[in-house]
Amino acid sequence: MEHLHVKRLRAYIHDDIAPEERSNIEAHLDDCPDCFMEYLGLIDQWEPDLSLSEDFTDKTMEQWQTQAPKKHVRPSMTRKQTLLHYGVAAGLTIILMSTGVFQHMIEWTGKHDEPSGMPLTEKIMNSTNAWLDEMKEREGNE
Ligand SMILES: [Zn+2]
Repeated sequence: MEHLHVKRLRAYIHDDIAPEERSNIEAHLDDCPDCFMEYLGLIDQWEPDLSLSEDFTDKTMEQWQTQAPKKHVRPSMTRKQTLLHYGVAAGLTIILMSTGVFQHMIEWTGKHDEPSGMPLTEKIMNSTNAWLDEMKEREGNE
């Protein structure tokens, strides 16, 4: 399998690619933990360019609005929902990475002998959920 070039990932993050290219990249990110980590790293480095037009912000907001609050989930929505979840997990991951909690979670996940075929994204999701549960418990104890 050919890995994604960093330039393509950047273009993807900047939403600067053709729709079919976008789905190719998303399919690869789903399958390839290496490129997914690379992608997370790039998001981490990425700071919104303040010189970007307002149109960009509008477009982004529009995407969130069309993707987020849908009650009637058609089968074709499932994939988008999944990607949205990945997006949320990715956001949390970045926060956790920068605070060092992520490292702790990876170690923690490693101790729990999960099926080795589990995709990294799922591991991150599980770790994130476990972390959130832990936070809730702590709140409850106080
Ligand atoms: Zn790859």
